[in-house]
Amino acid sequence: MKSLKVTANKKLKIQCTCGKAFEPTAKMMIEHVQDDGLIDVYYLCPHCKAKHHVCYINSEIKRIQKLIDKARRTNNPEACKILCDRKKYLMDALNNRL
Ligand SMILES: [Zn+2]
Repeated sequence: MKSLKVTANKKLKIQCTCGKAFEPTAKMMIEHVQDDGLIDVYYLCPHCKAKHHVCYINSEIKRIQKLIDKARRTNNPEACKILCDRKKYLMDALNNRL
């Protein structure tokens, strides 16, 4: 799995404006790189193809996510925690600004 873990822990349903709800999967997640380098992460409703924005990320956050995945694979909870905190900080800074 190379996708982000944004929704991995929670089973959430997205209620779409078309009246239908859907359960987003990692497969459905789309990462669209914008002209300014920001990556717009979103789902498309499988019923009406409406866009449901999740968050913005950038290459630095993607890099940290890879390190988190690696820390998890190698059973390194300390590194994982530090990296997760760093990622959260960057995500907050990025998404609150927008
Ligand atoms: Zn829809």
